[in-house]
Amino acid sequence: MPITTAVCPEINNPEVQRQVRAEQTNLLFHFGRWADLPAATGALVAAWLFWNDVSHVQLTAWVACVLGASLVRVVLGIGFSLRNIKVERSGAWTRSYFITTLLLAAAWGAAGVLLHQLATPLDEAFVALMLATVAAVAVPVLAPRISHYLAFVIVVLAPVIVRLLLDAQLLTTGIAGIVLLIGVFLGLLAWRASSQIEQGLRLRFSYAGIVDELTGESSQRTRVETKLREGEERMRRHSQSLLELAREASISTGEVRGALHVICEKAVQAIRCKRVSVWFMDDSSKALRCIHLLQDTHHDSKPDLTVEYARSPELFRMMQETRTCAISDVATDTRLQSFNAEYLRPNNVTAILGAPFRHGQRVRGVIFHEHTGSAREWTRDEASFASSLADFVALAITASDRRQAEERFRQLANYDRLTGLPNRALFMDRLTQALSKARRNKQNVALLFIDVDRFKNVNDSLGHHSGDTVLRTIGKRLLACVRAGDTVARLGGDEFTVILEECQNIETVTTICERILESATEPILLGETEANLTCSIGLSLSPGDGEDADVLLRNADIAMYKAKERGRNNYQFFTQDMHARAMLHQSRENALRKALQRTEMILHYQPQFDVDRGGVIGVEALVRWQDPEWGMIWPSEFIPLAEETGLIVPLGQWVIREACLQAREWHKALRGRPFHLAVNLSVRQFASSNLLDFVTTALRETGAPPEVLQLEITESLVMHDMENSIRVLQGLKNLGVRIALDDFGTGHSSLVYLKRLPVDVLKVDRAFVEQIAKSDQDAAIARSIINLAENLDLDVIAEGVESVAQMKQLRKGGCSKMQGYLFSMPLEKDECDRLLRGIPDFEI
Ligand code: C2E
Ligand code: CA
Ligand code: CA
Repeated sequence: MPITTAVCPEINNPEVQRQVRAEQTNLLFHFGRWADLPAATGALVAAWLFWNDVSHVQLTAWVACVLGASLVRVVLGIGFSLRNIKVERSGAWTRSYFITTLLLAAAWGAAGVLLHQLATPLDEAFVALMLATVAAVAVPVLAPRISHYLAFVIVVLAPVIVRLLLDAQLLTTGIAGIVLLIGVFLGLLAWRASSQIEQGLRLRFSYAGIVDELTGESSQRTRVETKLREGEERMRRHSQSLLELAREASISTGEVRGALHVICEKAVQAIRCKRVSVWFMDDSSKALRCIHLLQDTHHDSKPDLTVEYARSPELFRMMQETRTCAISDVATDTRLQSFNAEYLRPNNVTAILGAPFRHGQRVRGVIFHEHTGSAREWTRDEASFASSLADFVALAITASDRRQAEERFRQLANYDRLTGLPNRALFMDRLTQALSKARRNKQNVALLFIDVDRFKNVNDSLGHHSGDTVLRTIGKRLLACVRAGDTVARLGGDEFTVILEECQNIETVTTICERILESATEPILLGETEANLTCSIGLSLSPGDGEDADVLLRNADIAMYKAKERGRNNYQFFTQDMHARAMLHQSRENALRKALQRTEMILHYQPQFDVDRGGVIGVEALVRWQDPEWGMIWPSEFIPLAEETGLIVPLGQWVIREACLQAREWHKALRGRPFHLAVNLSVRQFASSNLLDFVTTALRETGAPPEVLQLEITESLVMHDMENSIRVLQGLKNLGVRIALDDFGTGHSSLVYLKRLPVDVLKVDRAFVEQIAKSDQDAAIARSIINLAENLDLDVIAEGVESVAQMKQLRKGGCSKMQGYLFSMPLEKDECDRLLRGIPDFEI
């Protein structure tokens, strides 16, 4: 059918009406096609029949009218069938058809008037019959539209009926009546047929509507099913993505940057959005910082974007309260105003799906899925997927926190906090590994034991802060001196070690040692001042100097001590001889310890004389170690050992107590004659915090008069920490004890300091006395020391006087108090006792 009729769902729907009308027009044209030819033929036949009875002109005109009308209809019909006409345009065609129908009807109707010239009753009847036939034939043709048929039948039959009636004869009136009856009958018939057709069409279209509706429903179901399938597919994709993330190593190991990279990529794929951004909350929870942005395929790990709480409090609140926040149109969301203006709009973001991630209750950040261009509804499974992604971010962060904590723990356990270098534990571990590797590969390992010379001085004089700076600097310099694979460690204090692996030749090792010595001498800036330091290096080589870590380390340590002995600022290779000496050192230490316990110590006393007055004015107590095996050991051999091991403190205490007991005894024996007993104090003893207490107790417990006790301290010992020394010395003086400055002249103390020191006696060092008779210069120094003492109102005594010449020179210089082999060697207690009691007025 030319008019494309569509379906509609309801029977009384105006659309159905429209469709019915259009279909009626289709039918009119369809049947009309078959009717026009017979109609034209009929007209020709009639003209032939009446050719002899009617005016030719009239007849020809009539036939021409009928043929013309038919032709117009045929042309119209052809035009109709060639077009593809919309339902809305069907009215115009119907009207055109109606007009041609009227034309044709009029042409036929004219026959009823034109052919009256026949005028025989038979002819009249024939014409009437012919027109009735035409009307009858038109019934099926025009039945689709009853109005068309009625118009047609009226126009065809009315003229003949009217003309017959006008004749006013019985016969013609009768024929008119019959024609009228036929017309009415045909009208009714057509009406019936028409209503049948219309009914049929209505049903057809409404059924079609229903069918269509049914088809619609089923396609809807298909659509739903498709949607479900798509949803399923999406879910499958989502869970596939999540599964892949669960297996992702960067998430489980807490490698956050890598994890964000992967998570953002999954987000873009699964949620199909242009941009994904990840924001971290700062510690105060007052700002969000964007730390990863994926746009199209470009990752940006430094987007430098911040959102402040103060500017977008609603956004922060939203993150606090929800698991996901899906916003389909950010422009209309009032909560996001400033976020929208500052971030979303400039980036053309129109819809966001945010999923905050938390650690416990605290929001650590948010991942935003950003849609650009137009508004977008977010589905529930997209939201749930987004929230799963956020969980993965949280997981990565937690893993990273854990990793950092482990790293910190490992750092604490294995690295020195001050320098960041491996500590003793890690060093031992590395050395053990290096040794076993060297064993396998038949190679050497060199171990350097490095000690900073006189580091204690820096610490004591410039403070611990400066000491720390020095250690850090040395650590850095050591690192710069070695190869990349070598280990530099700090064992503690000022002791460093270096492990040199794969040592092909000894030159490499010595070169590194020289480099270290050189770099250590570079001044270290400490604020205003600078420290000039050196270091001593001990070297041991595996496997010759030891095959396990402990032995190798011990031997490097021994070699380092050798380097110190050799004047510091040098390196020494370990030798077996060193080992033997170290062993001896070790055994001596043990022996000294035992000696102290067993009281193998004794005191000798060296008398001091006043050559002018001619008598003993006091004695100096000098300790000796009486070893049952080795015999007498002199202080020079065990005092440094005692100092080093700390045994000097108990030893010194023993000396003080012993000396006090003796002092009380001799004080009594000498019955008030001026007399003192001098006791030497060592560095450590002087530095120990309880010296004052100990001396107080010793004096009290032994009953020795304080003024009899004279404590000797060396000049350099005092100069080391002037303020503290003054404090301690003053404390001792307050007890009534006398103080002597030992080895005076060697410590280069300035006069200013000397004046401040609470001392009673200066002891001119043996070195000057030794030279006094030989060199004028030393004689001059000795004399100036004596003068100095006099000026400062101090007693002065010369020690180490061995010859008469020395004595005379000293006397000439104004020093009458002397001690030395010239007068007496240090004596055993009994000998000294005899001396003091037996020769009250000793004369030379
Ligand atoms: P010092 O305090 O300078 O003691 C004097 C040293 O010179 C003593 O050596 C003494 O025997 C020696 N001497 C005395 N007269 C002469 C002489 O005319 N010529 C020479 N060449 N030497 C002489 P000693 O007893 O071997 O003591 C050495 C050092 O050991 C002492 O030097 C002192 O610093 C230290 N010392 C001795 N006893 C003790 C002690 O009980 N405690 C502490 N802390 N140190 C002690
Ligand atoms: Ca002394
Ligand atoms: Ca001395």
